[in-house]
Amino acid sequence: MNVKPPLQTGSFIDEAAIGHVLDSVRPDPVAIREVLAKARQARGLEARDMALLMTLSDPELLEELFASARQVKEEIYGRRLVLFAPLYVSNLCGNECAYCAFRAGNKTLQRKALSQEEVRAEVEALVDQGHKRLLIVAGETSGQHGLRYIMDCIATAYGVKTDRGEIRRINVNLAPLEVEEFRQLKTSGIGTFQLFQETYHRDTYRRVHLAGPKSDYDWRVTAMHRAMAGGLDDVGIGVLFGLHDWRFELLAMLAHIRSLEKHCGVGPHTISVPRMEPAHGSNVSIGPPAPVSDLDFKKIVAILRLTVPYTGMIMSTRESAEMRNQTLALGISQISAGSRTNPGAYKSGGESEIFDAAQFQLGDHRELDEVIREVAEMGYLPSFCTACYRLGRTGQDFMDLARPGEIKDHCNPNAVATFLEYLQDYGSPETRQAGEAAIAREIAGMEGVARQRSEAMAARVRRGEPDVIC
Ligand code: SAM
Ligand code: SF4
Repeated sequence: MNVKPPLQTGSFIDEAAIGHVLDSVRPDPVAIREVLAKARQARGLEARDMALLMTLSDPELLEELFASARQVKEEIYGRRLVLFAPLYVSNLCGNECAYCAFRAGNKTLQRKALSQEEVRAEVEALVDQGHKRLLIVAGETSGQHGLRYIMDCIATAYGVKTDRGEIRRINVNLAPLEVEEFRQLKTSGIGTFQLFQETYHRDTYRRVHLAGPKSDYDWRVTAMHRAMAGGLDDVGIGVLFGLHDWRFELLAMLAHIRSLEKHCGVGPHTISVPRMEPAHGSNVSIGPPAPVSDLDFKKIVAILRLTVPYTGMIMSTRESAEMRNQTLALGISQISAGSRTNPGAYKSGGESEIFDAAQFQLGDHRELDEVIREVAEMGYLPSFCTACYRLGRTGQDFMDLARPGEIKDHCNPNAVATFLEYLQDYGSPETRQAGEAAIAREIAGMEGVARQRSEAMAARVRRGEPDVIC
């Protein structure tokens, strides 16, 4: 990968230029239909195209936007949906993010950093549910609970092997690091490094990040450039929707993506779309300053899917089951399930006893088995695939395969094999029934290499072979 030295400032987010693009467009149906026709070719969109789509409110055109997003999603991702669980290891934090329960000034929160024994117990509980992919999350601290501690947690989690399985990919959502620290983190074998800018709007950023290292906008917005310079080529970006106008945020996100492509040779692997939730003890008790309606949220997902067709899009448990069901078809490729946001909650079996340690309120409280069943009944194919990262298909290598569509000949068979493995090892009778039907339907719709591989791999899984991937 040809990565230039990391940037020092976020000057690639040009607020005046973004404002100009937003002001220059009008809801013109002819121009909008031209953009949608271009978007359906799955080659991505530029800032002005996005801004035009943002002006949409006419129900007929909205339906055309959603239909275009569904088409592109279906073409590239098929009916696959990757599942993961967040693992909150520590809620200690030195920052003052007004919206977050973990903020340093929240004296009502029970502080906790899991011991390695406790991490092991949490991971065993997640493995027992059938999870294969984890997202390790922590507040920002240095010293005893800094990077070394996180790396120990990753090693502990990868080291857990029960008679029911193991975790095969760990992603992390952590505070920004120096290039050298990113290099160290890479040695722990993580998949994606996730970090959300929260808001790209400087003034809003300053107002909601009141103290601590996170109050430095430039340090945060250049973090992914440093991550790539440190050798991590799968990075995940995101915005916390509700802090500032979502239209501005989407265009700024595109500027971030283009800057990563220019300086590091590849854009982000994933985009997350969290909406701000009420958080116990946060400083924003009156609710999000720039709330995003359900309809606008669906527009966000659809516009992003059309703008960067090959970038994964992640939705978390922040959204209700109903909202997740409505947006999956529009472009989401990964969801979390059975999540808890308080350290230690998986082992203790719930949120109630240590709710005061949770980060924010969850919108979806269902267990993994139930989420899987519903997703399969809706016509999706749940996937626990971890093949790309384990076989070295990351960064530009992944994009090279993804763009011509070749990745499907890997993803579809891997989804079939990992889902079948889940059903055999963990599925309740009802979920097994729904899952087997989804697998049969999926294989029946496949052709060529994908079908041959899927059938052969499924047969190996049925014979009891673990971890069948291609
Ligand atoms: N401490 C690190 C940081 O801030 O980047 C990483 C972990 S932090 C717990 C992960 C993410 O949680 C943040 O980036 C933020 O977007 C999200 N978050 C914080 N408060 C939230 C809230 N009230 N509702 C939804 N998401 C929230
Ligand atoms: Fe700390 Fe992250 Fe919460 Fe901010 S969002 S208070 S940095 S855990």
